Amino acid sequence: MPAHVGDVASAHAGRVPLAAITDRNRGRAVTTSIDLLQTLRTGLPGRAEPQRHVVIVGAGIAGLVSAMLLKEAGHRVTILEARNRLGGRIHTYRGFANGMYGEFGAMRFPRQHHLGQQLIHERFRLPTTPFPMVDEDTWVYLDGRGVRRSAFTADTFDFGLQDHERGFPPADLLRRVMTPLIELVGQPGGWAELIARYDRYSLLDYLIEQGVSEPCRALIGPVLNLEGRFHFSLAEWFTHYHEDVFGDLEYIDTGADTLAHAFGPLLLPDTRLGAEVRAIEQDPAGVVVHYRTAIGGDVAVPADECIVTVPFVLLRHMEIGGLDVAKQFNMRNVYYGRAHKVFMQFSRRWWAEDEDITHGVSVTDLAIRNIVYTPAGQDPSGQRGIIIASYAWEQDSMAWSMLTEEQRIVQAMEDLCKIHPQAAATFEMGISHDWALDPYAGGIGPLFRPHEMCSEAYDDVIRPAGRVWFANDACDLKGRRWIEGAIAAAIKNAFAIHAGMRDELPVAGAV
Ligand SMILES: Cc1cc2nc3c(=O)[nH]c(=O)nc-3n(C[C@H](O)[C@H](O)[C@H](O)COP(=O)(O)OP(=O)(O)OC[C@H]3O[C@@H](n4cnc5c(N)ncnc54)[C@H](O)[C@@H]3O)c2cc1C
Repeated sequence: MPAHVGDVASAHAGRVPLAAITDRNRGRAVTTSIDLLQTLRTGLPGRAEPQRHVVIVGAGIAGLVSAMLLKEAGHRVTILEARNRLGGRIHTYRGFANGMYGEFGAMRFPRQHHLGQQLIHERFRLPTTPFPMVDEDTWVYLDGRGVRRSAFTADTFDFGLQDHERGFPPADLLRRVMTPLIELVGQPGGWAELIARYDRYSLLDYLIEQGVSEPCRALIGPVLNLEGRFHFSLAEWFTHYHEDVFGDLEYIDTGADTLAHAFGPLLLPDTRLGAEVRAIEQDPAGVVVHYRTAIGGDVAVPADECIVTVPFVLLRHMEIGGLDVAKQFNMRNVYYGRAHKVFMQFSRRWWAEDEDITHGVSVTDLAIRNIVYTPAGQDPSGQRGIIIASYAWEQDSMAWSMLTEEQRIVQAMEDLCKIHPQAAATFEMGISHDWALDPYAGGIGPLFRPHEMCSEAYDDVIRPAGRVWFANDACDLKGRRWIEGAIAAAIKNAFAIHAGMRDELPVAGAV
């Protein structure tokens, strides 16, 4: 009988957390609830009794938060991290001129993600700046023709829309189609109903059912960045859409990696870098975690408990003892999406000087798909600047994986010049990161497919197996694929270990 595992939602006032809804749907008993934000703020309740030695595999944000909470509560922690740095998918590239930096990984932090905000603002007091996503001076470039967003109207591109779709800007078209869902979740019990009724839908299923024509999908796909999401969970996508998760974002002025580094003074003494964990054994008395370094060998670390924060897709390369078939099957089937970014450095910030673009995203149907004029990482004291010349997901990213680094830069520049001809003459250097090819990430992060959000499979994914616990950004329903989800999962697991809860993770209470 699998242990019950509740999931949690981020704090969001006035709304029933999705996870609580799915727990109710399953009719399972949830005996322990936890206020995640309060726990992050004030720590785990009481002292470590008994004190445990916990090995934490991975020093991404989930590993760091769980280690911090456990250590501050008096437990002994050992972090084993394969890379030579903290942060995992928080990865700031610092090789540009004049101290400029580029965020290969996490770069925008929603203000509504209260756990992330607590770390950034309250605990570590990192300086931040708004990261707005819309600049009317950016471009929409489709079918060989570009137009500024400010000049974009419903009639700019003739894609052969049906009569009932004509005359509406893409965002309005989408909103109209989503209105039934918006009304549904506005009713009492609406979120539960949404999940119950629509968990089996992909976004594409729903669009087709609502009568959105193929020409319309060909328009709103690239313009509203939906194309890469078409075959994934409607409910997950809708949650982000409804919350307008991209509506109020900020970046960390000093670079996102300073969030990870802020844990250093507390946790680096307990961290072994360059330690790739290969196997975890367990018996009723404890665990033994085996790692190797770049020169090989096998180092065994005995402990009382182990928290695995490594992305599930990578667990194929790790032997973990004591996992039942359902747990193995469902962890194996967590889907990880692809993504890449191609950064470029230019001798002057022509996008701002010549075109008044200060932030936001240009969208295209070219191979580069999205150009991000990142406000983060610039050096305002000089002329130079950086942009993300290509940021794409899924199949759009796969099309870059087989290119060499040189080919990627050349291809990105070719596309970029169709919209910004000044780019070539001012180009200084380019660099890309393909997350699907990153041996310690295995993709951008987990994506729900139809049937996966409220299924029991999800419980199997996140529940502990004996003395081995699982906490990463796949282990939270609402904050999945955000640092928020990783932090939430870390708090729950640290709490459960501290409280000696072997068979149950706490579920978030009212927050
Ligand atoms: C391109 C991109 C953009 C993103 N944008 C945002 C954003 O704007 N805002 C946001 O909130 N989130 C964003 N995210 C998501 C966010 O980065 C992740 O959700 C979060 O960082 C995941 O944290 P984690 O601790 O669960 O996993 P990870 O950060 O992946 O940490 C896992 C750790 O385990 C280590 N590891 C792997 N294998 C082993 C092994 N065998 N032995 C030991 N250690 C191992 C890894 O090196 C890593 O340090 C983005 C992610 C990507 C890739």
